[in-house]
Amino acid sequence: MQPVNIIGGGLAGSEAAWQLASRQIPVRLFEMRGREKTPAHSTDKLAELVCSNSFRSDDPNSNAVGVLHAEMRKMGSLIMMIADQHRVPAGSALAVDREGFAEAVTNRLQNHPLIEIHRERIDHIPDETTIIASGPLTSDSLANAITELTGRDALSFFDAIAPIVYRDSIDMDIAWFQSRWDKGDGHDYINCPLNKEEYLAFHAALLAGEKGDFHEWEKDTPYFEGCMPIEVMADRGIDTLRFGPMKPVGLDDPRTGRWPYGAVQLRQDNALGTLWNMVGFQTKLKYAEQIRVFRMIPGLEKAEFARLGGMHRNSFIRSPVLLDEYLRLKKQTNIRFAGQITGCEGYIESASIGLLAGIFTAADKLDRKVSSPPVESALGALLGHITKNADPDHYQPMNINFGLFPPISEKHPKKQRKAMMAERARKALDQWISEEAFLKSSILEQ
Ligand code: FAD
Repeated sequence: MQPVNIIGGGLAGSEAAWQLASRQIPVRLFEMRGREKTPAHSTDKLAELVCSNSFRSDDPNSNAVGVLHAEMRKMGSLIMMIADQHRVPAGSALAVDREGFAEAVTNRLQNHPLIEIHRERIDHIPDETTIIASGPLTSDSLANAITELTGRDALSFFDAIAPIVYRDSIDMDIAWFQSRWDKGDGHDYINCPLNKEEYLAFHAALLAGEKGDFHEWEKDTPYFEGCMPIEVMADRGIDTLRFGPMKPVGLDDPRTGRWPYGAVQLRQDNALGTLWNMVGFQTKLKYAEQIRVFRMIPGLEKAEFARLGGMHRNSFIRSPVLLDEYLRLKKQTNIRFAGQITGCEGYIESASIGLLAGIFTAADKLDRKVSSPPVESALGALLGHITKNADPDHYQPMNINFGLFPPISEKHPKKQRKAMMAERARKALDQWISEEAFLKSSILEQ
């Protein structure tokens, strides 16, 4: 059988290789490290963890990351199996001995009779079946090739992430739905009003808030005027924000009937309407500072954040328009994308999309059918976000979180809703596995 090419031996590429080889499909895995470095990796090992050694929460009963861990274990994930073997104490989180972990993944793949590892940078997209899993630091040459294939605006080199708030944590007694000047359908934006005193206090807190630095190697990657950090904008003058992202004009606060002094707008971020994005609030404030400072905004005092803001060098494609539900490039279906380059964010999310890309490719190669995972499962929620639910015009990388799952009625207390979603995910995934002949047979074979 013609081998499947995988470009990139990180979290996603390693997992995809394992899923394919475990189903008796030969793989050629191309990894440039060993020949040349990325700015963030420091070894030539496969699946190197570039920063923290944590895969985050391992609680499968009330945390979306823990639910994803549990699902990956059920699906025979290599990354989870080796992580469990190299676990170090970290409370309810899953943390690993990073060197032991990467060494073990490398050995497993190197010793697999169906996997050939080539230490080589790929500059062109092959004609054969290929999974591109080259990650947030995709080489420039390959990035150019991807742009040629997908179009100029389809690949970003920097994320500019504004915080994303769970809809049910916004105080709608203060905030209100309205589009500026009543354009749109009236439910496009949620607005939070600030009076002068609140605006000045907020402005001062933004300036004083502790910020993170760009890495040395990120400094050459320009972030453009259009996505400047909110605190940099605030530093340009006391009113800069009131003429920019905190512009109040055309917004009638129903409590006063007037425009407020300043306003923060949140735009719906997913088709389910569970996640709302703070428009223009990309930031380098440290996480704890973001929570403290953004909760000063009236209506967001009790905001819970599905993800906090950030700005990093990060290559990712506009997946919701480019990929089908099986992670195939719509215009060239022998090419799949996996990992962070699809716009998921995080080690475990990247590995999980690698797992799905591997399984889908295996089904294609063996001429078998498999449906995509149910939307109620963590795998299905993340895949659904990437391939269809996210707003394609403002697509930014996303971690797994319960806001990506179909909502559960707000009549249940919030804590209970998380447990209910976790339980529903468990059942949905089990049912999917039991109903899909391809999965049932191939998971058992491993
Ligand atoms: P990677 O693991 O980066 O793998 C991609 C591989 O492709 C690399 O090995 C690279 O060398 C190779 N490659 C690139 N171009 C080519 C080419 N042309 N030919 C051949 N090989 C190529 N996530 C977390 O959960 N926790 C963190 O603490 C964390 N910290 C991060 C810190 C930094 C600086 C960055 C950039 C990201 C961080 N992430 C973190 C986010 C992300 O989840 C990880 O980067 C994760 O490794 C992504 O997995 P991946 O498989 O998509 O990409």
